[in-house]
Amino acid sequence: MILDVQNLTHHFENVKALNNVSFKIENNSIISILGPSGCGKTTLIRLISGLEEIQDGKIYLQNDLVSHKKINLPPEDRSISYVFQDFALFPHMTVLENISFAASSQKNKKQLTQQVISLAKIDNFLDKYPHQLSGGEQQRVALARSIAVQPKLLLLDEPFSDLNTSLKKDIIDDTLHLIKSLESSAIIVTHNAEEAMFISDQIIVINDGSIVQIGTPYDIFYHPKNSYVASLFGETNLYTTHVLEGFCDTPIGKIQTPDLSQGQKVDIVIRPEALILHKEKSPLISEVNGVVVDSKFIGNHAIIHMTVSDSSGDKFHMHSKVAGNFLPEPASSVSIELDNNHIFVFSRN
Ligand code: ATP
Repeated sequence: MILDVQNLTHHFENVKALNNVSFKIENNSIISILGPSGCGKTTLIRLISGLEEIQDGKIYLQNDLVSHKKINLPPEDRSISYVFQDFALFPHMTVLENISFAASSQKNKKQLTQQVISLAKIDNFLDKYPHQLSGGEQQRVALARSIAVQPKLLLLDEPFSDLNTSLKKDIIDDTLHLIKSLESSAIIVTHNAEEAMFISDQIIVINDGSIVQIGTPYDIFYHPKNSYVASLFGETNLYTTHVLEGFCDTPIGKIQTPDLSQGQKVDIVIRPEALILHKEKSPLISEVNGVVVDSKFIGNHAIIHMTVSDSSGDKFHMHSKVAGNFLPEPASSVSIELDNNHIFVFSRN
């Protein structure tokens, strides 16, 4: 095991930035920390790096206790490398010198330097100084430099945020392969759920300083623990109701809830992809219908805005995500087939 974090709680005056956070990371794995701005992601990796002194809890690196109330092993004595949002490149060194310096203690220095230069696509500005680079270029140099140290654990705080979309995909892909081939592990902080799914073996979802769920990208996507986790992957349709004799009556029909007690208040989260639309209105396809308000074409897919009525005739606005070439006319009727993999019922107080 590379990292064992136990019961971290951290305050900044009266702000509780982390609340009893515990998790473990196996060797050779890539983990994403996913959560909104201000939820405690940077505080967590600053504590792991040793840049922030621990207040409560313990951190073990490769089974050695490195942070505890009375112990704070300095960052340079931990086999960790990190890239924070401000990059922190050496200003008096060129790009090549920054990277060579990082790789200097490695046996395979030359090969490693070449590998990270090509990974980060920075061949064209090796002789420039950090202040001569754009934000995205500095980010790529910082990434290359952090990998050149060949650390056991790499901590990356939003490492791809300043890159444009086409560059981002390539660099993320190459970074993953290099981290795996160097047999390092990495923790990558992000607020982008798709990026987290693409990058990680496991995702740690944080909200308000607490871990909400830890799981594989598949677990988090198909078995979210609550409406917050379900909504991380894009907008959702939300319907709040009560359980009535083992089911919930909703605008998209009756949903079975055999494990919930009578009268329990629930949130029904319906992802737009759960609503599969057909232009023909037929009970053979579905008993559930909607009336189209608008069809918005967004390239590969379209978002269809609809009005759907529940059994008492109350109307609800819902969105369906369909293939981009399915664009029903406003005011037309559609049948709604359901994909239950994208419909979730969560109890609430
Ligand atoms: P972002 O995605 O915006 O970088 P984050 O999830 O990394 O956010 P943190 O930077 O860890 O969040 O901050 C967690 C909470 O602690 C926030 O409420 C923040 O305002 C507060 N905080 C962080 N650092 C300090 C500090 N040095 N002094 C006071 N409050 C702080």
